[in-house]
Amino acid sequence: MKEAMFYKRLVGRKVKCELCPRNCIIPDDKTGICGVRKNSGGKLYSLVYGLPVSVAVDPIEKKPLFHFAPGSTCLSIATVGCNLKCKFCQNFEISQEYGEILGNEMLPEEVIELAKKQGVDGIAYTYTEPTVFYEYALDVMKIAHKEGLYNVWVSNGYTNPEAIRKMAKYLDAVNIDLKGDDEFYRDVCLGVGAGPVYHALKTYREMGIWVEVTNLLIPGYNDSAKKIEGLVDWVLKNLGPDTPLHFSAFYPNYKMSEVRPTPVATLEDAYRIAKEKGLYWVYIGNVWGHKYESTYCWKCGTKLVDRAGFTVSSIKEECPKCGEPLSVRGLKWMKSNK
Ligand code: SF4
Repeated sequence: MKEAMFYKRLVGRKVKCELCPRNCIIPDDKTGICGVRKNSGGKLYSLVYGLPVSVAVDPIEKKPLFHFAPGSTCLSIATVGCNLKCKFCQNFEISQEYGEILGNEMLPEEVIELAKKQGVDGIAYTYTEPTVFYEYALDVMKIAHKEGLYNVWVSNGYTNPEAIRKMAKYLDAVNIDLKGDDEFYRDVCLGVGAGPVYHALKTYREMGIWVEVTNLLIPGYNDSAKKIEGLVDWVLKNLGPDTPLHFSAFYPNYKMSEVRPTPVATLEDAYRIAKEKGLYWVYIGNVWGHKYESTYCWKCGTKLVDRAGFTVSSIKEECPKCGEPLSVRGLKWMKSNK
């Protein structure tokens, strides 16, 4: 157990955790909503520090991050726990239904040692919600940067701005799930609305961190043209047209196993809406081999990055036809087959 950051002691041995917008008030001997931060005698502890439940090497494209260090690989780590309760969670075995705290001890130095042994370019904090293992992630991130590795978060955006600011200098890129509107967050994720995610996205952007956004389209829940237009308008107005937006296909899962998969036509409609409204970099994900996995020049439509699944076979940093540059960060880690 490691003492947690971002909490206040209250009377009667209660504590208030201020790491995420849940702002849980936790009585002695209880955990917060995420299940992995526990009040013990009036002090808050992280129960998952140094206890990853998942460790794997992934291409950065799997996160998905398409405009950060394309072609690179990262060591992905996750502990159990999450601060949302999405009924469609793809990783519910480790985010929600894990029963007790699971994981194999791996201290931050050991994560970096493994990363170097595997020859990866960076570390991804992913699969579950990195916010709930913040202290562990932060310690890994500090060493990773010293060792020349990048750090990327794949997050639901339920992180309070102070915590984002504190880790910003160690963080290179994020992919944030923007799942829907207020109603969606309350009904499907049992959260407190979309506001905290908007706030987090703006904070990441203000701190100079590369931001990509993913929107999982679930039939009947957040896939109407009106909802897609609302989400695209928000991204355009608050993050700008240069923000990559990934529309991802839903497959029946967890408590939403009765809902049908997203039709490809719905994803293509969403793609068209986002492009017509003026977003530069729009993608379709979870549909293997779809042409909109690749990157096209936003001005003239020439293919700039050839991508199939998670494999990048060629990258053009500038459009050969019109000269428009490709927005890309993390160039020093960028790789391609050509
Ligand atoms: S991180 Fe966990 S304990 Fe802290 S406010 Fe969020 S849900 Fe509650």
